[in-house]
Amino acid sequence: MEPNQNNWLRTNWIEKGNAQRIFVELKFTLRDCNSLPGVVGTCKETFNLYYQETDSEVGRSLRENQYVKIDTIAADESFTQGDLGERKMKLNTEVRIIGPLSRRGFYLAFQDVGACIALVSVKVYYKKCWSIIENLATFPDTVTGSEFSSLVEVEGMCVSDAEEEADNSPKMHCSAEGEWLVPIGKCICKAGFHQKGDACEPCGRGFYKSSSQDLQCSRCPAHSFNDREGSWRCDCEDGYYRALSDPPSVACTRPPSAPQNLVYNINQTTVSLEWSPPADTGGRNDVTYRVICRRCSWEPEECVPCGPNVGYSPAQSGLVDSYVTIVDLLAHANYTFEVEAVNGVSDLSRTQRLFAAVSIATGQAAPSQVSEVIKEKVQQRSIQLSWQEPHQPNGVITEYEIKYYEKDQKDRIYSTVRSKSTSATVNNLKPSTAYVFQIRAFTEAGYGTYGPRLEITTKEEATAAIVSSEQNPVIIIAVVAVAGTIILVFMVFGFIIGRRHCGYSKADQEGDEELYFHYGYIKFPGTKTYIDPETYEDPNRAVHQFAKELDASCIKIERVIGAGEFGEVCSGRLKLPGKRDVSVAIKTLKVGYTEKQRRDFLCEASIMGQFDHPNVVHLEGVVTRGKPVMIVIEYMENGSLDAFLRKHDGQFTVIQLVGMLRGIAAGMRYLSDMGYVHRDLAARNILVNSNLVCKVSDFGLSRVIDDDPEAVYTTTGGKIPVRWTAPEAIQYRKFTSASDVWSYGIVMWEVMSYGERPYWDMSNQDVIKAIEEGYRLPAPMDCPPGLHQLMLDCWQKDRAERPKFDQIVGILDKMIRNPNTLKTPVGTCTRPISPLLDQSTPDFTAFRSVGEWLEAIKMERYRDNFTAAGYSSLESVARMSIEDVMSLGITLVGHQKKIMSSIQTMRAQMLHLHGTGVQV
Ligand code: AMP
Repeated sequence: MEPNQNNWLRTNWIEKGNAQRIFVELKFTLRDCNSLPGVVGTCKETFNLYYQETDSEVGRSLRENQYVKIDTIAADESFTQGDLGERKMKLNTEVRIIGPLSRRGFYLAFQDVGACIALVSVKVYYKKCWSIIENLATFPDTVTGSEFSSLVEVEGMCVSDAEEEADNSPKMHCSAEGEWLVPIGKCICKAGFHQKGDACEPCGRGFYKSSSQDLQCSRCPAHSFNDREGSWRCDCEDGYYRALSDPPSVACTRPPSAPQNLVYNINQTTVSLEWSPPADTGGRNDVTYRVICRRCSWEPEECVPCGPNVGYSPAQSGLVDSYVTIVDLLAHANYTFEVEAVNGVSDLSRTQRLFAAVSIATGQAAPSQVSEVIKEKVQQRSIQLSWQEPHQPNGVITEYEIKYYEKDQKDRIYSTVRSKSTSATVNNLKPSTAYVFQIRAFTEAGYGTYGPRLEITTKEEATAAIVSSEQNPVIIIAVVAVAGTIILVFMVFGFIIGRRHCGYSKADQEGDEELYFHYGYIKFPGTKTYIDPETYEDPNRAVHQFAKELDASCIKIERVIGAGEFGEVCSGRLKLPGKRDVSVAIKTLKVGYTEKQRRDFLCEASIMGQFDHPNVVHLEGVVTRGKPVMIVIEYMENGSLDAFLRKHDGQFTVIQLVGMLRGIAAGMRYLSDMGYVHRDLAARNILVNSNLVCKVSDFGLSRVIDDDPEAVYTTTGGKIPVRWTAPEAIQYRKFTSASDVWSYGIVMWEVMSYGERPYWDMSNQDVIKAIEEGYRLPAPMDCPPGLHQLMLDCWQKDRAERPKFDQIVGILDKMIRNPNTLKTPVGTCTRPISPLLDQSTPDFTAFRSVGEWLEAIKMERYRDNFTAAGYSSLESVARMSIEDVMSLGITLVGHQKKIMSSIQTMRAQMLHLHGTGVQV
């Protein structure tokens, strides 16, 4: 009823916490002024709401001006006296919002300026978004923003074992109303875990999940397992692997098995290999092949990698197709090739490598390129060139061919010149003209490829007044005339000599050989005939006609390797100016020799010096103008063939043995073509070099045979190596190339039996008789029937029926090209075609006991073995097979062979004498 009322009610200090926007809800009742008598002018129907922000409580004092008014609150409904009577309260609810607040807390104040009110409740609150898990991310309790319109952006936290999706971190927005709005991004379960509800659970045993991106755990792929929970991958079973690039979802795999059916083809120094894919690819489809090449010495253990000089086409490894060609191998060398199938896990495997392997002996090959050519002298009409020997001669270079053409003509029209040395002069060129030169080398194996092109321009023409001898037609005619006369004389002379001593050699019609002049050397190709040094009155002239005189300072003697008939045989090195130094054997003539000894000693050089062939030992030269007198020969590392084979009994493939025989036959073809009859062809007179190339050696006149310990005096006079010599030569000294063919057949037998003595212990007399009666040596053990047939052909009684060396080379070449023809099962050698024996021939049936027989073949050490196994009679021995012999415990291959050969002969004799076949 009093005017100017100003009554305040203030709350306690309210700490605001995180809140920024505060809601104030008021509930109150208010009396209608009209229902109150006598209060007109003083009665009010509203009140005021204030707040004051402070950082702490400020005590009880209240200063109005520090308060900020929020609103004047009016009642929607007021009550009257009547309402009271009815006890009807008309409660008003009003909500006001304050904010944004910046201090720690605040007071609320209510100002009553004359209203009759009852403040029933004051609710002060703020709003927040409640903690929530959405998309595997936890969003914490979040107080709403300060403004009505503001959204609070909240980063989510991934639940355990989950991670944020890349570039898509989880977010949500808390609205002013405390509602979560607009979820963005998400979390995903880590590798090894999968989602179950709002959590990530580990994959079970035997399951894996490799990436968070995958939704589900998967069962372990084939050949893998795990026994832990929560795995991101499975482990491979023993022997199985995963390549680095393999995803965990693929099965574990293993290396492939070895390639199958490896076959090869040799063409000189090129080997082609082909195979079938492995039976087991290891479960992968990335199988490729790699080839490992090793060159082996003849000692089986010593193999070395082939090195970078060998070429592989298309490649050495990573081969997708099942073939490869290996080029640039060394000639006459032994190689082992291993072909391995590999896949993505081969390198991880620690198990043993599986591969298919072949051992191969290469054949002969043409020489490599002549690349280092030097122009020595360039003139108007001639050019002089010199060059170095090719790096891989692969044999003895007998000739070089110089191809040249005018540069403008390209090589449509070209000329060739040949030279025996490493230099040549090309004449008849045009002045001031550019020429292109290319050189290639020739050996028994044929021509090598041409070296690089060398361009040279001839000098300008001199003035017309000067006519050089090169241009002078009169001089040219004179030179040609003189040369022609010399050739004619040479031919006639050669013809007569050939007739008298050696028979006439057939002219070589192969090739487009041309007449040429070179440093005074005249050659009319194709008519090379052996000249008997004895036809020279002065033996010194013969030596210098055929052998190069060497300067002793070029020779370095290193060690003594043997004893020759005239003195020591040494090894050493020869270094000729402009040439590579080479290993040589040096035969010396011992001091205090007689003139005849000197002549005989040098005679070998006079003969050898006439030959130039890869399968004939090559004479480097002689030293006659100093002491000691020396003959220098190419060095043959493996010495004589018979001893070499005995040392390596059973160690070569048939192809290798046939390769050796082919070389000997080629050398003999050359000698016989020259009209030279060897007379003492035997394995002991063949030398073998480090590449297994066999060369015919031991040249001399008939007296050389006298030095052969195998040679014996026969009734017809003279000494003869009976076992190697054809019957007509033994009987009436008819030595011809056909009798050399007979000896060659014996060499074949020696080679195939690894140096066995022909006719074993039979006496020379018995050998002569047996041969006369038609007996021929049986096939050695493991000897292909075709080869034995060739031996028998060489031992035809009628010498005209025997093959010529040319044919022998052809037959052997065919066999080498078709190795199938050389296959022979163990112990199935053919019997001699006419196993006839004279009664006086050592007769195996004449032995009374097995012991006696063993003694005769020097195998008595096995007497007990035979007895213990129950072989008490020779008949039972004659039935033995190679397996039977081996089962006696005879392990040495050489001894097995010796016994088996003897048994075969014994069997042949029994068949002949008793007419009874012995079946094995
Ligand atoms: P010869 O006087 O020809 O019988 O030689 C005697 C020994 O010397 C032979 O048995 C061979 O072992 C050895 N010999 C001869 N010539 C050579 C050679 N060119 N290379 C290596 N050794 C050889």
